[in-house]
Amino acid sequence: MRQSMLFAPTLRETPAEAEIISHKLMLRAGMIRKSAAGVYTYLPLAQRVLTKISRIVREEMDRENGQELALPIVQPAEIWRESGRWDVYGDEMFRLTDRHNREFCLGPTHEEIITTIVKNEVRSYRDLPLRLYQIQNKYRDEIRPRFGLMRGREFIMKDLYSFDVDEAGLEESYQAMYRAYNRIFSRCGLRFRPVEADSGAIGGNSSQEFMVLAEAGEALILYCDSCNYAANVEKAVSVISQAAADNEIKPMERVATPEQKTIDEVCSFLKIAPEQTVKTLFYGTDFGYVAVLVRGSDQVNEIKLGNIVGGNKLYLASPEEIQEVFGLPVGYVGPIGLDPAKVRILADTLVEGMHQVVVGANEVGFHYQYVEPQRDFPKVEYVDLRTACAGERCPHCQGHLLEARGIEVGQIFKLGTKYSKALGANFLDEKGQSMPIIMGCYGIGISRTMAAAIEQNYDENGIKWPMAIAPYQVHLVPVSADQLPVAEELYRDLTAQGVEVLLDDRNERPGVKFKDADLIGIPIRITIGPKGLAQGEVEVRFRQTGEDARWSIGEVVQNAVKFIQSALKATETQAL
Ligand code: ATP
Ligand code: MG
Repeated sequence: MRQSMLFAPTLRETPAEAEIISHKLMLRAGMIRKSAAGVYTYLPLAQRVLTKISRIVREEMDRENGQELALPIVQPAEIWRESGRWDVYGDEMFRLTDRHNREFCLGPTHEEIITTIVKNEVRSYRDLPLRLYQIQNKYRDEIRPRFGLMRGREFIMKDLYSFDVDEAGLEESYQAMYRAYNRIFSRCGLRFRPVEADSGAIGGNSSQEFMVLAEAGEALILYCDSCNYAANVEKAVSVISQAAADNEIKPMERVATPEQKTIDEVCSFLKIAPEQTVKTLFYGTDFGYVAVLVRGSDQVNEIKLGNIVGGNKLYLASPEEIQEVFGLPVGYVGPIGLDPAKVRILADTLVEGMHQVVVGANEVGFHYQYVEPQRDFPKVEYVDLRTACAGERCPHCQGHLLEARGIEVGQIFKLGTKYSKALGANFLDEKGQSMPIIMGCYGIGISRTMAAAIEQNYDENGIKWPMAIAPYQVHLVPVSADQLPVAEELYRDLTAQGVEVLLDDRNERPGVKFKDADLIGIPIRITIGPKGLAQGEVEVRFRQTGEDARWSIGEVVQNAVKFIQSALKATETQAL
Protein backbone atom coordinates (compact mmCIF):
# COMPACT_ATOMS: atom_id res chain seq x y z
CA MET A 1 0.00 0.00 0.00
CA ARG A 2 1.24 3.45 -0.88
CA GLN A 3 0.70 5.85 1.96
CA SER A 4 -0.20 8.63 -0.46
CA MET A 5 -3.29 6.55 -1.23
CA LEU A 6 -4.01 5.46 2.36
CA PHE A 7 -7.08 6.78 4.14
CA ALA A 8 -5.62 7.17 7.63
CA PRO A 9 -6.22 10.73 8.78
CA THR A 10 -3.74 11.01 11.65
CA LEU A 11 -4.12 13.68 14.31
CA ARG A 12 -1.39 15.56 16.18
CA GLU A 13 -3.66 16.40 19.12
CA THR A 14 -5.58 13.95 21.21
CA PRO A 15 -9.33 14.57 20.97
CA ALA A 16 -10.75 15.55 24.37
CA GLU A 17 -13.45 12.86 24.28
CA ALA A 18 -10.92 10.03 24.64
CA GLU A 19 -10.06 8.85 28.15
CA ILE A 20 -8.03 5.69 27.69
CA ILE A 21 -4.94 4.96 25.63
CA SER A 22 -6.48 2.68 23.02
CA HIS A 23 -9.25 5.16 22.29
CA LYS A 24 -6.80 8.08 22.02
CA LEU A 25 -4.37 6.21 19.82
CA MET A 26 -6.99 4.78 17.50
CA LEU A 27 -8.39 8.26 16.94
CA ARG A 28 -4.94 9.77 16.49
CA ALA A 29 -3.70 7.01 14.19
CA GLY A 30 -6.69 7.56 11.91
CA MET A 31 -8.15 4.13 12.65
CA ILE A 32 -11.62 4.98 13.91
CA ARG A 33 -14.12 7.82 13.92
CA LYS A 34 -17.21 8.13 16.07
CA SER A 35 -20.62 8.44 14.47
CA ALA A 36 -22.72 8.26 17.67
CA ALA A 37 -22.03 7.35 21.29
CA GLY A 38 -20.58 3.83 21.19
CA VAL A 39 -20.90 3.56 17.41
CA TYR A 40 -17.80 3.83 15.26
CA THR A 41 -16.55 3.66 11.71
CA TYR A 42 -13.55 1.42 11.30
CA LEU A 43 -11.20 3.13 8.85
CA PRO A 44 -8.88 0.99 6.69
CA LEU A 45 -6.07 0.46 9.23
CA ALA A 46 -8.54 -0.71 11.86
CA GLN A 47 -10.35 -2.86 9.34
CA ARG A 48 -7.10 -4.63 8.49
CA VAL A 49 -6.45 -5.38 12.16
CA LEU A 50 -10.01 -6.61 12.67
CA THR A 51 -9.68 -8.84 9.61
CA LYS A 52 -6.50 -10.34 11.00
CA ILE A 53 -7.98 -11.00 14.42
CA SER A 54 -11.04 -12.51 12.74
CA ARG A 55 -8.83 -14.73 10.60
CA ILE A 56 -7.07 -16.12 13.66
CA VAL A 57 -10.42 -16.66 15.35
CA ARG A 58 -11.81 -18.45 12.28
CA GLU A 59 -8.78 -20.71 12.00
CA GLU A 60 -9.03 -21.75 15.62
CA MET A 61 -12.81 -22.20 15.55
CA ASP A 62 -12.54 -24.34 12.42
CA ARG A 63 -9.73 -26.37 13.98
CA GLU A 64 -12.16 -27.36 16.74
CA ASN A 65 -14.87 -28.31 14.24
CA GLY A 66 -16.67 -24.99 14.37
CA GLN A 67 -18.73 -24.16 11.27
CA GLU A 68 -19.27 -20.57 10.28
CA LEU A 69 -22.75 -19.35 9.42
CA ALA A 70 -24.48 -15.99 9.45
CA LEU A 71 -27.55 -15.36 11.56
CA PRO A 72 -29.81 -12.35 11.04
CA ILE A 73 -29.17 -9.24 13.11
CA VAL A 74 -32.84 -8.31 13.03
CA GLN A 75 -34.65 -10.82 15.21
CA PRO A 76 -38.38 -11.26 15.86
CA ALA A 77 -39.64 -10.57 19.38
CA GLU A 78 -41.56 -13.87 19.54
CA ILE A 79 -38.53 -16.08 20.11
CA TRP A 80 -37.29 -13.73 22.83
CA ARG A 81 -40.69 -13.91 24.48
CA GLU A 82 -40.54 -17.70 24.30
CA SER A 83 -37.20 -17.78 26.07
CA GLY A 84 -38.44 -15.25 28.60
CA ARG A 85 -35.72 -12.71 27.79
CA TRP A 86 -37.75 -10.06 25.94
CA ASP A 87 -38.53 -8.37 29.25
CA VAL A 88 -35.43 -9.44 31.16
CA TYR A 89 -33.09 -7.74 28.68
CA GLY A 90 -34.55 -4.36 29.51
CA ASP A 91 -33.17 -1.12 28.13
CA GLU A 92 -29.99 -2.72 26.86
CA MET A 93 -31.91 -4.11 23.92
CA PHE A 94 -32.35 -2.04 20.76
CA ARG A 95 -35.97 -2.58 19.81
CA LEU A 96 -37.80 -1.70 16.63
CA THR A 97 -41.22 -2.02 15.09
CA ASP A 98 -41.90 -2.67 11.42
CA ARG A 99 -44.63 -1.12 9.25
CA HIS A 100 -47.07 -3.83 10.37
CA ASN A 101 -46.37 -3.07 14.02
CA ARG A 102 -44.43 -6.28 14.52
CA GLU A 103 -41.73 -6.09 17.13
CA PHE A 104 -38.08 -6.86 16.52
CA CYS A 105 -34.73 -6.32 18.15
CA LEU A 106 -31.19 -5.90 16.94
CA GLY A 107 -29.38 -8.99 18.21
CA PRO A 108 -27.45 -8.37 21.44
CA THR A 109 -26.60 -12.11 21.38
CA HIS A 110 -27.99 -15.04 19.41
CA GLU A 111 -29.03 -17.94 21.63
CA GLU A 112 -32.71 -17.60 20.73
CA ILE A 113 -32.32 -17.52 17.00
CA ILE A 114 -29.74 -20.28 16.70
CA THR A 115 -31.65 -22.55 19.06
CA THR A 116 -34.72 -22.04 16.88
CA ILE A 117 -32.77 -22.95 13.74
CA VAL A 118 -31.31 -26.07 15.33
CA LYS A 119 -34.65 -27.06 16.80
CA ASN A 120 -36.23 -27.02 13.35
CA GLU A 121 -33.48 -28.99 11.62
CA VAL A 122 -32.02 -31.43 14.14
CA ARG A 123 -33.96 -34.64 14.68
CA SER A 124 -31.75 -37.31 16.15
CA TYR A 125 -28.59 -37.86 18.15
CA ARG A 126 -26.96 -38.64 14.79
CA ASP A 127 -27.25 -34.95 13.84
CA LEU A 128 -25.21 -33.92 16.90
CA PRO A 129 -22.83 -32.55 18.08
CA LEU A 130 -22.84 -29.22 16.28
CA ARG A 131 -20.61 -26.21 16.83
CA LEU A 132 -21.89 -23.20 14.91
CA TYR A 133 -20.41 -19.74 14.91
CA GLN A 134 -20.47 -16.37 13.29
CA ILE A 135 -18.53 -13.11 13.37
CA GLN A 136 -20.90 -10.21 13.28
CA ASN A 137 -22.02 -6.88 14.71
CA LYS A 138 -23.85 -7.04 18.02
CA TYR A 139 -26.10 -4.32 19.40
CA ARG A 140 -26.40 -3.44 23.07
CA ASP A 141 -27.70 -0.10 24.23
CA GLU A 142 -25.17 0.06 27.08
CA ILE A 143 -25.96 2.56 29.86
CA ARG A 144 -22.47 3.95 29.62
CA PRO A 145 -20.89 3.37 26.24
CA ARG A 146 -17.31 4.47 26.75
CA PHE A 147 -13.62 4.00 26.23
CA GLY A 148 -13.97 3.88 22.46
CA LEU A 149 -14.25 0.33 21.20
CA MET A 150 -14.05 -1.16 24.72
CA ARG A 151 -17.70 -0.67 25.46
CA GLY A 152 -19.53 0.08 22.27
CA ARG A 153 -23.22 -0.06 21.51
CA GLU A 154 -22.42 -1.60 18.12
CA PHE A 155 -19.45 -3.96 18.31
CA ILE A 156 -18.06 -7.03 16.60
CA MET A 157 -18.38 -10.39 18.30
CA LYS A 158 -17.56 -13.95 17.44
CA ASP A 159 -20.20 -16.14 18.97
CA LEU A 160 -20.19 -19.91 18.84
CA TYR A 161 -22.96 -22.16 20.13
CA SER A 162 -22.44 -25.85 20.87
CA PHE A 163 -25.17 -28.48 20.76
CA ASP A 164 -24.50 -31.84 22.38
CA VAL A 165 -26.44 -34.93 23.41
CA ASP A 166 -25.18 -35.10 26.99
CA GLU A 167 -23.06 -33.46 29.69
CA ALA A 168 -19.94 -35.31 28.56
CA GLY A 169 -20.42 -33.88 25.08
CA LEU A 170 -20.86 -30.39 26.49
CA GLU A 171 -17.69 -30.83 28.52
CA GLU A 172 -15.82 -31.75 25.33
CA SER A 173 -17.18 -28.73 23.47
CA TYR A 174 -16.35 -26.47 26.39
CA GLN A 175 -12.79 -27.78 26.61
CA ALA A 176 -12.39 -27.42 22.85
CA MET A 177 -13.34 -23.75 23.12
CA TYR A 178 -11.11 -23.27 26.15
CA ARG A 179 -8.17 -24.57 24.10
CA ALA A 180 -9.14 -22.49 21.09
CA TYR A 181 -9.42 -19.30 23.15
CA ASN A 182 -6.00 -19.85 24.67
CA ARG A 183 -4.53 -20.28 21.19
CA ILE A 184 -6.37 -17.28 19.79
CA PHE A 185 -5.20 -14.78 22.39
CA SER A 186 -1.66 -16.17 22.40
CA ARG A 187 -1.50 -15.91 18.62
CA CYS A 188 -2.72 -12.33 18.85
CA GLY A 189 0.37 -11.66 20.98
CA LEU A 190 -1.55 -10.77 24.14
CA ARG A 191 -0.80 -11.36 27.82
CA PHE A 192 -4.01 -12.79 29.18
CA ARG A 193 -5.46 -15.04 31.80
CA PRO A 194 -8.53 -17.27 31.93
CA VAL A 195 -10.45 -16.66 35.15
CA GLU A 196 -13.47 -18.18 36.85
CA ALA A 197 -16.47 -16.04 36.06
CA ASP A 198 -19.93 -15.48 37.37
CA SER A 199 -22.40 -17.52 35.38
CA GLY A 200 -25.31 -15.34 36.40
CA ALA A 201 -28.80 -16.72 36.49
CA ILE A 202 -27.62 -19.93 34.83
CA GLY A 203 -25.78 -21.01 37.98
CA GLY A 204 -23.16 -23.67 38.45
CA ASN A 205 -19.42 -23.46 38.27
CA SER A 206 -19.40 -23.28 34.55
CA SER A 207 -18.06 -20.13 33.05
CA GLN A 208 -14.67 -18.61 32.41
CA GLU A 209 -13.66 -15.23 31.13
CA PHE A 210 -10.48 -14.49 29.21
CA MET A 211 -8.91 -11.35 30.59
CA VAL A 212 -6.25 -9.30 28.86
CA LEU A 213 -4.18 -7.89 31.69
CA ALA A 214 -4.10 -4.10 31.50
CA GLU A 215 -4.50 -1.14 33.80
CA ALA A 216 -7.44 0.19 31.80
CA GLY A 217 -9.39 -3.02 32.43
CA GLU A 218 -12.83 -2.59 33.94
CA ALA A 219 -12.64 -6.00 35.65
CA LEU A 220 -10.82 -6.77 38.87
CA ILE A 221 -9.18 -10.18 39.03
CA LEU A 222 -7.92 -12.04 42.07
CA TYR A 223 -5.28 -14.70 41.42
CA CYS A 224 -3.19 -16.93 43.63
CA ASP A 225 0.53 -16.35 44.04
CA SER A 226 1.24 -20.06 44.23
CA CYS A 227 -1.37 -22.07 42.30
CA ASN A 228 -3.36 -21.29 39.16
CA TYR A 229 -6.55 -20.15 40.88
CA ALA A 230 -7.78 -16.95 39.28
CA ALA A 231 -11.26 -15.46 39.37
CA ASN A 232 -13.17 -12.34 38.55
CA VAL A 233 -13.83 -10.55 41.85
CA GLU A 234 -17.53 -10.97 41.03
CA LYS A 235 -17.02 -14.68 41.63
CA ALA A 236 -13.84 -14.99 43.71
CA VAL A 237 -13.81 -16.68 47.10
CA SER A 238 -11.09 -16.64 49.73
CA VAL A 239 -10.24 -18.23 53.03
CA ILE A 240 -9.99 -16.13 56.15
CA SER A 241 -8.76 -17.62 59.36
CA GLN A 242 -10.92 -16.46 62.26
CA ALA A 243 -9.73 -16.08 65.80
CA ALA A 244 -10.76 -19.06 67.90
CA ALA A 245 -13.62 -18.45 70.30
CA ASP A 246 -12.69 -16.74 73.50
CA ASN A 247 -13.35 -19.18 76.33
CA GLU A 248 -15.40 -16.58 78.00
CA ILE A 249 -18.79 -16.20 76.37
CA LYS A 250 -20.43 -13.14 77.80
CA PRO A 251 -24.06 -12.22 77.92
CA MET A 252 -25.13 -9.74 75.30
CA GLU A 253 -24.99 -6.17 76.57
CA ARG A 254 -26.74 -3.00 75.44
CA VAL A 255 -24.26 -0.14 75.22
CA ALA A 256 -24.89 3.56 74.69
CA THR A 257 -23.25 4.88 71.52
CA PRO A 258 -24.65 8.40 71.26
CA GLU A 259 -24.25 9.98 67.82
CA GLN A 260 -22.03 7.04 66.72
CA LYS A 261 -23.65 5.91 63.49
CA THR A 262 -21.03 4.79 61.03
CA ILE A 263 -18.92 1.67 61.47
CA ASP A 264 -15.83 3.83 61.88
CA GLU A 265 -17.44 6.03 64.54
CA VAL A 266 -18.72 3.05 66.52
CA CYS A 267 -15.36 1.29 66.26
CA SER A 268 -13.32 4.19 67.52
CA PHE A 269 -15.88 4.91 70.25
CA LEU A 270 -15.85 1.30 71.53
CA LYS A 271 -12.17 0.81 70.66
CA ILE A 272 -12.74 -2.24 68.49
CA ALA A 273 -11.85 -3.24 64.92
CA PRO A 274 -14.45 -3.23 62.11
CA GLU A 275 -13.86 -7.01 61.86
CA GLN A 276 -15.61 -7.29 65.25
CA THR A 277 -18.79 -5.68 64.00
CA VAL A 278 -21.60 -6.95 61.83
CA LYS A 279 -23.43 -4.50 59.62
CA THR A 280 -27.00 -4.93 58.45
CA LEU A 281 -28.00 -3.75 55.00
CA PHE A 282 -31.35 -3.99 53.29
CA TYR A 283 -31.80 -4.70 49.60
CA GLY A 284 -34.94 -4.29 47.56
CA THR A 285 -35.63 -7.26 45.27
CA ASP A 286 -38.43 -8.64 43.09
CA PHE A 287 -39.44 -10.72 46.10
CA GLY A 288 -39.51 -8.00 48.73
CA TYR A 289 -36.72 -6.82 50.98
CA VAL A 290 -33.82 -8.96 52.19
CA ALA A 291 -31.60 -8.12 55.12
CA VAL A 292 -27.93 -8.81 54.49
CA LEU A 293 -25.39 -9.25 57.27
CA VAL A 294 -21.64 -8.99 56.68
CA ARG A 295 -18.68 -8.06 58.82
CA GLY A 296 -18.28 -4.31 59.20
CA SER A 297 -15.02 -4.47 57.29
CA ASP A 298 -16.50 -6.36 54.32
CA GLN A 299 -18.27 -5.38 51.13
CA VAL A 300 -21.44 -7.14 50.02
CA ASN A 301 -20.83 -8.78 46.65
CA GLU A 302 -23.99 -7.80 44.80
CA ILE A 303 -23.38 -10.33 42.02
CA LYS A 304 -23.32 -13.18 44.53
CA LEU A 305 -26.33 -11.68 46.32
CA GLY A 306 -28.24 -11.33 43.06
CA ASN A 307 -27.61 -14.99 42.22
CA ILE A 308 -28.95 -16.03 45.62
CA VAL A 309 -32.09 -13.93 45.65
CA GLY A 310 -32.90 -14.26 41.93
CA GLY A 311 -35.17 -11.97 39.93
CA ASN A 312 -34.05 -8.86 38.08
CA LYS A 313 -34.32 -6.09 40.62
CA LEU A 314 -31.62 -5.52 43.23
CA TYR A 315 -30.85 -2.23 44.92
CA LEU A 316 -29.44 -1.11 48.24
CA ALA A 317 -32.29 0.46 50.20
CA SER A 318 -31.50 3.84 51.71
CA PRO A 319 -31.55 4.26 55.51
CA GLU A 320 -34.59 6.51 55.07
CA GLU A 321 -36.42 3.80 53.13
CA ILE A 322 -35.65 1.26 55.85
CA GLN A 323 -36.90 3.63 58.49
CA GLU A 324 -40.08 4.21 56.56
CA VAL A 325 -40.78 0.55 55.77
CA PHE A 326 -39.52 -1.15 58.92
CA GLY A 327 -39.39 1.69 61.42
CA LEU A 328 -35.71 0.99 62.05
CA PRO A 329 -33.52 3.97 63.04
CA VAL A 330 -30.87 5.24 60.66
CA GLY A 331 -27.40 4.23 61.82
CA TYR A 332 -28.50 1.77 64.49
CA VAL A 333 -29.99 -1.07 62.46
CA GLY A 334 -29.07 -4.58 63.58
CA PRO A 335 -30.09 -8.24 63.26
CA ILE A 336 -31.45 -8.81 66.74
CA GLY A 337 -35.20 -8.93 66.78
CA LEU A 338 -35.55 -8.97 63.00
CA ASP A 339 -38.41 -11.27 62.13
CA PRO A 340 -37.52 -13.85 59.44
CA ALA A 341 -41.24 -14.17 58.72
CA LYS A 342 -41.26 -10.54 57.63
CA VAL A 343 -37.90 -10.23 55.93
CA ARG A 344 -35.52 -12.84 54.53
CA ILE A 345 -32.22 -12.63 56.44
CA LEU A 346 -29.01 -13.63 54.71
CA ALA A 347 -25.66 -13.60 56.46
CA ASP A 348 -22.18 -14.11 55.09
CA THR A 349 -20.62 -17.41 56.15
CA LEU A 350 -17.89 -15.57 58.06
CA VAL A 351 -20.48 -14.12 60.43
CA GLU A 352 -21.33 -17.61 61.69
CA GLY A 353 -17.88 -18.06 63.22
CA MET A 354 -17.68 -14.63 64.87
CA HIS A 355 -17.71 -14.03 68.63
CA GLN A 356 -18.31 -11.06 70.87
CA VAL A 357 -19.70 -9.03 68.05
CA VAL A 358 -21.02 -5.47 68.03
CA VAL A 359 -24.28 -4.83 66.16
CA GLY A 360 -26.84 -2.04 66.01
CA ALA A 361 -29.59 -2.31 68.65
CA ASN A 362 -32.45 -1.02 66.43
CA GLU A 363 -32.73 1.84 68.89
CA VAL A 364 -31.37 5.35 68.44
CA GLY A 365 -28.05 5.80 70.30
CA PHE A 366 -27.49 2.15 71.21
CA HIS A 367 -25.58 -0.91 70.05
CA TYR A 368 -25.28 -4.42 71.45
CA GLN A 369 -21.91 -5.86 72.33
CA TYR A 370 -20.74 -9.39 73.21
CA VAL A 371 -23.24 -10.69 70.68
CA GLU A 372 -22.88 -14.37 69.70
CA PRO A 373 -24.41 -14.77 66.25
CA GLN A 374 -25.43 -18.38 66.72
CA ARG A 375 -26.98 -17.62 70.10
CA ASP A 376 -28.45 -14.18 69.54
CA PHE A 377 -29.67 -14.17 65.94
CA PRO A 378 -29.88 -17.85 65.00
CA LYS A 379 -32.56 -17.58 62.33
CA VAL A 380 -30.45 -16.51 59.37
CA GLU A 381 -29.37 -18.25 56.16
CA TYR A 382 -25.59 -18.46 55.88
CA VAL A 383 -24.25 -18.01 52.37
CA ASP A 384 -21.11 -16.67 50.69
CA LEU A 385 -21.89 -12.99 50.23
CA ARG A 386 -18.75 -10.97 50.69
CA THR A 387 -16.33 -9.60 48.15
CA ALA A 388 -12.99 -11.37 48.43
CA CYS A 389 -9.91 -9.15 48.65
CA ALA A 390 -6.25 -9.25 47.76
CA GLY A 391 -4.08 -10.46 50.62
CA GLU A 392 -6.56 -13.13 51.69
CA ARG A 393 -5.84 -16.83 51.38
CA CYS A 394 -6.39 -18.86 48.23
CA PRO A 395 -9.38 -21.24 48.44
CA HIS A 396 -7.33 -24.04 46.82
CA CYS A 397 -3.93 -23.89 48.46
CA GLN A 398 -1.80 -22.13 51.06
CA GLY A 399 -1.07 -19.21 48.75
CA HIS A 400 -2.28 -15.63 48.94
CA LEU A 401 -4.45 -13.72 46.54
CA LEU A 402 -3.08 -10.87 44.44
CA GLU A 403 -5.09 -8.48 42.33
CA ALA A 404 -4.85 -7.28 38.76
CA ARG A 405 -7.04 -5.43 36.32
CA GLY A 406 -8.30 -7.13 33.21
CA ILE A 407 -10.19 -6.46 29.99
CA GLU A 408 -12.72 -9.20 29.32
CA VAL A 409 -12.09 -10.21 25.71
CA GLY A 410 -13.97 -13.49 25.78
CA GLN A 411 -16.26 -15.64 27.86
CA ILE A 412 -17.20 -19.30 27.63
CA PHE A 413 -20.31 -20.73 29.15
CA LYS A 414 -22.05 -24.00 29.81
CA LEU A 415 -25.72 -23.23 29.22
CA GLY A 416 -27.14 -26.71 29.72
CA THR A 417 -30.80 -26.90 28.72
CA LYS A 418 -31.91 -23.37 29.57
CA TYR A 419 -32.64 -22.37 25.97
CA SER A 420 -33.36 -25.80 24.50
CA LYS A 421 -36.08 -26.36 27.10
CA ALA A 422 -37.56 -22.89 26.76
CA LEU A 423 -37.66 -23.11 22.97
CA GLY A 424 -38.37 -26.84 22.67
CA ALA A 425 -35.11 -27.86 20.97
CA ASN A 426 -35.14 -31.64 21.44
CA PHE A 427 -33.57 -34.64 19.76
CA LEU A 428 -34.33 -38.35 19.77
CA ASP A 429 -31.69 -40.32 21.64
CA GLU A 430 -30.57 -43.87 20.82
CA LYS A 431 -33.58 -45.30 22.60
CA GLY A 432 -35.91 -43.08 20.64
CA GLN A 433 -36.60 -40.85 23.62
CA SER A 434 -37.02 -37.11 23.15
CA MET A 435 -34.37 -35.19 25.11
CA PRO A 436 -33.44 -31.50 25.30
CA ILE A 437 -30.20 -30.58 23.54
CA ILE A 438 -27.34 -29.57 25.87
CA MET A 439 -25.90 -26.21 24.90
CA GLY A 440 -22.89 -23.99 25.46
CA CYS A 441 -22.10 -20.49 24.22
CA TYR A 442 -18.76 -18.86 23.64
CA GLY A 443 -18.11 -15.20 22.78
CA ILE A 444 -15.10 -13.14 21.76
CA GLY A 445 -15.19 -9.37 21.45
CA ILE A 446 -13.27 -8.87 18.20
CA SER A 447 -13.34 -5.06 18.28
CA ARG A 448 -12.62 -5.03 22.02
CA THR A 449 -9.65 -7.35 21.42
CA MET A 450 -8.17 -4.80 19.01
CA ALA A 451 -8.48 -2.09 21.69
CA ALA A 452 -7.09 -4.44 24.36
CA ALA A 453 -4.06 -5.18 22.19
CA ILE A 454 -3.26 -1.47 22.14
CA GLU A 455 -3.70 -1.16 25.91
CA GLN A 456 -0.86 -3.67 26.22
CA ASN A 457 1.32 -2.42 23.41
CA TYR A 458 2.04 1.29 23.23
CA ASP A 459 4.47 3.98 24.29
CA GLU A 460 4.30 7.77 24.40
CA ASN A 461 4.70 7.92 20.61
CA GLY A 462 2.03 5.47 19.58
CA ILE A 463 1.00 1.88 19.04
CA LYS A 464 3.38 -1.10 19.00
CA TRP A 465 1.39 -3.76 17.14
CA PRO A 466 2.09 -7.42 17.81
CA MET A 467 3.16 -8.90 14.46
CA ALA A 468 0.15 -11.18 13.99
CA ILE A 469 -2.43 -8.43 14.08
CA ALA A 470 -0.45 -5.43 12.78
CA PRO A 471 -2.18 -3.63 9.90
CA TYR A 472 1.06 -3.96 7.91
CA GLN A 473 4.26 -5.78 8.74
CA VAL A 474 6.85 -3.45 7.24
CA HIS A 475 6.80 0.33 6.95
CA LEU A 476 9.17 1.63 4.28
CA VAL A 477 10.15 5.24 4.86
CA PRO A 478 12.33 6.94 2.25
CA VAL A 479 13.70 10.12 3.83
CA SER A 480 13.16 12.14 0.64
CA ALA A 481 12.07 11.76 -2.95
CA ASP A 482 15.67 10.91 -3.91
CA GLN A 483 15.39 7.54 -2.15
CA LEU A 484 11.97 6.74 -3.56
CA PRO A 485 13.23 4.58 -6.47
CA VAL A 486 15.15 2.30 -4.06
CA ALA A 487 12.14 2.20 -1.74
CA GLU A 488 9.87 1.29 -4.66
CA GLU A 489 12.18 -1.55 -5.56
CA LEU A 490 12.18 -2.89 -1.98
CA TYR A 491 8.40 -2.49 -1.92
CA ARG A 492 8.08 -4.68 -5.03
CA ASP A 493 10.48 -7.32 -3.74
CA LEU A 494 8.96 -7.51 -0.25
CA THR A 495 5.43 -7.62 -1.59
CA ALA A 496 6.43 -10.38 -4.01
CA GLN A 497 7.49 -12.44 -0.99
CA GLY A 498 4.10 -11.97 0.64
CA VAL A 499 5.21 -9.29 3.09
CA GLU A 500 2.55 -6.68 3.87
CA VAL A 501 4.20 -3.34 3.23
CA LEU A 502 3.19 0.26 3.69
CA LEU A 503 5.37 2.59 1.62
CA ASP A 504 5.50 6.20 2.76
CA ASP A 505 5.74 7.82 -0.64
CA ARG A 506 4.27 11.10 0.59
CA ASN A 507 5.98 14.38 -0.01
CA GLU A 508 6.36 15.12 3.69
CA ARG A 509 9.23 16.15 5.95
CA PRO A 510 11.07 13.18 7.50
CA GLY A 511 9.92 14.28 11.00
CA VAL A 512 6.29 14.04 9.97
CA LYS A 513 6.82 10.61 8.43
CA PHE A 514 8.58 9.25 11.51
CA LYS A 515 5.92 10.63 13.83
CA ASP A 516 3.17 8.97 11.81
CA ALA A 517 5.16 5.75 11.62
CA ASP A 518 5.53 5.60 15.41
CA LEU A 519 1.87 6.45 15.86
CA ILE A 520 0.59 3.77 13.46
CA GLY A 521 3.01 1.32 15.01
CA ILE A 522 3.95 -1.12 12.24
CA PRO A 523 6.44 -3.65 13.70
CA ILE A 524 9.37 -3.15 11.29
CA ARG A 525 10.26 0.33 10.10
CA ILE A 526 12.84 0.55 7.37
CA THR A 527 14.27 4.00 6.76
CA ILE A 528 16.01 4.60 3.46
CA GLY A 529 18.25 7.63 3.86
CA PRO A 530 21.06 9.20 1.83
CA LYS A 531 23.83 8.29 4.28
CA GLY A 532 22.91 4.64 4.60
CA LEU A 533 22.31 4.29 0.90
CA ALA A 534 25.82 5.56 0.18
CA GLN A 535 26.98 2.44 2.01
CA GLY A 536 24.29 0.25 0.48
CA GLU A 537 22.39 0.04 3.78
CA VAL A 538 19.03 0.85 5.34
CA GLU A 539 18.18 1.63 8.96
CA VAL A 540 15.79 -0.69 10.71
CA ARG A 541 13.80 0.03 13.83
CA PHE A 542 11.75 -2.64 15.59
CA ARG A 543 8.74 -0.92 17.04
CA GLN A 544 8.12 -3.45 19.83
CA THR A 545 11.58 -3.32 21.39
CA GLY A 546 12.86 -0.02 20.07
CA GLU A 547 16.00 -1.83 18.89
CA ASP A 548 17.84 -0.59 15.82
CA ALA A 549 19.70 -2.51 13.15
CA ARG A 550 21.35 -1.86 9.80
CA TRP A 551 20.64 -4.17 6.91
CA SER A 552 22.38 -4.12 3.58
CA ILE A 553 19.95 -3.50 0.73
CA GLY A 554 20.50 -6.99 -0.59
CA GLU A 555 19.42 -8.68 2.63
CA VAL A 556 16.32 -6.60 3.41
CA VAL A 557 13.81 -9.06 1.97
CA GLN A 558 15.41 -12.11 3.49
CA ASN A 559 15.85 -10.49 6.93
CA ALA A 560 12.36 -9.05 6.99
CA VAL A 561 10.78 -12.40 6.07
CA LYS A 562 12.86 -14.12 8.71
CA PHE A 563 11.95 -11.63 11.41
CA ILE A 564 8.24 -11.78 10.60
CA GLN A 565 8.22 -15.55 10.58
CA SER A 566 10.01 -15.86 13.87
CA ALA A 567 7.74 -13.25 15.50
CA LEU A 568 4.65 -15.14 14.33
CA LYS A 569 6.15 -18.44 15.36
CA ALA A 570 6.93 -17.19 18.86
CA THR A 571 3.27 -16.50 19.59
CA GLU A 572 2.08 -19.62 17.72
CA THR A 573 4.30 -21.97 19.71
CA GLN A 574 3.33 -20.21 22.90
CA ALA A 575 -0.22 -21.01 21.86
CA LEU A 576 0.31 -24.79 21.69
P1 ATP B 1 -19.29 -6.93 29.82
O1 ATP B 1 -19.34 -7.65 31.16
O2 ATP B 1 -17.95 -6.34 29.53
O3 ATP B 1 -20.44 -6.02 29.60
P2 ATP B 1 -20.56 -9.22 28.78
O4 ATP B 1 -20.13 -10.23 29.77
O5 ATP B 1 -21.90 -8.65 28.83
O6 ATP B 1 -19.47 -8.06 28.74
P3 ATP B 1 -20.68 -11.24 26.75
O7 ATP B 1 -22.14 -11.35 26.59
O8 ATP B 1 -19.94 -12.28 27.53
O9 ATP B 1 -20.31 -9.80 27.32
O10 ATP B 1 -20.06 -11.03 25.30
C1 ATP B 1 -18.91 -11.71 24.80
C2 ATP B 1 -17.78 -10.74 24.54
O11 ATP B 1 -18.19 -9.63 23.77
C3 ATP B 1 -17.22 -10.14 25.81
O12 ATP B 1 -16.30 -11.01 26.41
C4 ATP B 1 -16.56 -8.88 25.29
O13 ATP B 1 -15.27 -9.16 24.79
C5 ATP B 1 -17.43 -8.48 24.13
N1 ATP B 1 -18.33 -7.37 24.49
C6 ATP B 1 -19.42 -7.42 25.28
N2 ATP B 1 -20.00 -6.22 25.37
C7 ATP B 1 -19.26 -5.37 24.61
C8 ATP B 1 -19.36 -3.99 24.29
N3 ATP B 1 -20.35 -3.24 24.76
N4 ATP B 1 -18.43 -3.44 23.47
C9 ATP B 1 -17.43 -4.20 22.97
N5 ATP B 1 -17.29 -5.52 23.23
C10 ATP B 1 -18.19 -6.10 24.04
MG1 MG C 1 -19.09 -11.75 29.54
